[in-house]
Amino acid sequence: MDLRLLVDLPAGLDYNEWLASHTMALFDHVNLVYGSVSEFCTQSSCPDMTGPGQRTYLWFDEKGKRTKVAAPQYIDYVMTFIQKTISDESIFPTKYANEFPSSFESIVRKIVRLLFHVVAHLYAVHFKEVVMLGLHAHLNLTFAHLMALHHRFSLIEAKETDVLKDLEVALKLTDEALTNELANNNDKVTDVLGDSSNTAHLSEDNVCTDNK
Ligand SMILES: [Zn+2]
Repeated sequence: MDLRLLVDLPAGLDYNEWLASHTMALFDHVNLVYGSVSEFCTQSSCPDMTGPGQRTYLWFDEKGKRTKVAAPQYIDYVMTFIQKTISDESIFPTKYANEFPSSFESIVRKIVRLLFHVVAHLYAVHFKEVVMLGLHAHLNLTFAHLMALHHRFSLIEAKETDVLKDLEVALKLTDEALTNELANNNDKVTDVLGDSSNTAHLSEDNVCTDNK
């Protein structure tokens, strides 16, 4: 398994373009998995936005004040923020003439950190439902992609990623199925990670892209 190859910047490709495409793919995948279990993530089941090991995430409101919000609310804020940001032509330009802003990398760092929080919540609280829906391989792959991107470009602080350190180790050492799949078929991995429309292996019934 070598996801490092997947995230390694190809010669001649713009760094920001590369970050942008991976950031958008990660957003799609996290959105897909969370959307599928979101009916289980409610004010009453998840009154706090928790991750593994008693970690609680607080939301910074527009005035910069930290507020405690329920997980579904926090994740709704995250997904709305990211959707708005990646749709903003002045931040994620798609037209040739437009350029990335100088703050682009710090915006990507924020997005990747927030996506990490959602992934952390999924593992800590909803893994049972993720497994029930048969989406655990997809979540593991999304996590592996996120961490590979992070390791390549140092996007998130260690104090953030520490909560899933054990999982990171375990996935490399013990998840033979995932490892074999990745090792045996790199094209398939690229398909799964690079093309968000390629979700044919997921049952249509179980997939909900609505993150509300
Ligand atoms: Zn939840």
